[in-house]
Amino acid sequence: MRLLLVEDDLMVGESVQKGLRQDGFAVDWVQDGEAAELALENGVYDLVVLDLGLPRKDGIDVLSGLRAKENSVPVLILTARDAVPDRVRGLDRGADDYLIKPFDLDELAARVRALLRRRAGRAEPLMRHGDLVLNPATHEASLAGTPLALSAREFALLEALLDRPGAVLSRAQLEERIYGWGEEIESNTVEVYVHSLRKKLGTGFIRNVRGVGYMIPRRG
Ligand code: CA
Repeated sequence: MRLLLVEDDLMVGESVQKGLRQDGFAVDWVQDGEAAELALENGVYDLVVLDLGLPRKDGIDVLSGLRAKENSVPVLILTARDAVPDRVRGLDRGADDYLIKPFDLDELAARVRALLRRRAGRAEPLMRHGDLVLNPATHEASLAGTPLALSAREFALLEALLDRPGAVLSRAQLEERIYGWGEEIESNTVEVYVHSLRKKLGTGFIRNVRGVGYMIPRRG
């Protein structure tokens, strides 16, 4: 899952980016409101973590602009403890959730997972597909009850495909899901991970749609 982090405080930004990456998210970080708008115009994000007090353009204006363009990406806003009116305004302008600074990184990651679940229309915290079960919170996976050893990027790739069963994701779209800006992308990386996932899951699980990309068929 690819997240956009918008935060001008360097210490907060660095620790949030690091923490969310450790939780398996690809995280792009920008430090002002205009850079956030540019990133949102050019990139596809699964969720935005948005500080409200930002240079160049206020977070509330970034949020309003996003919703005015009918972009429905989940947005979690970060606000100060005493800023109740900010939180109310943020939620009323289209934010989906908020956290009060200072916050715990584990709580942030849990809220992010909850929003991603809701976006995908899932009430259940575990992702299931037939015999395959993924736990996005712990990164544990099992097939027919047997634990599967998956690398962080294998897990991320599988999670991206399982998030939208039946949808074909191109190699570029999959790379976007598993790498943030500045992370070294090796060539053929998606093919390599798909190959290794097929060995672990069985060859028919991930389908190759020739010239387009990869998909996991919808069940039933
Ligand atoms: Ca700020």
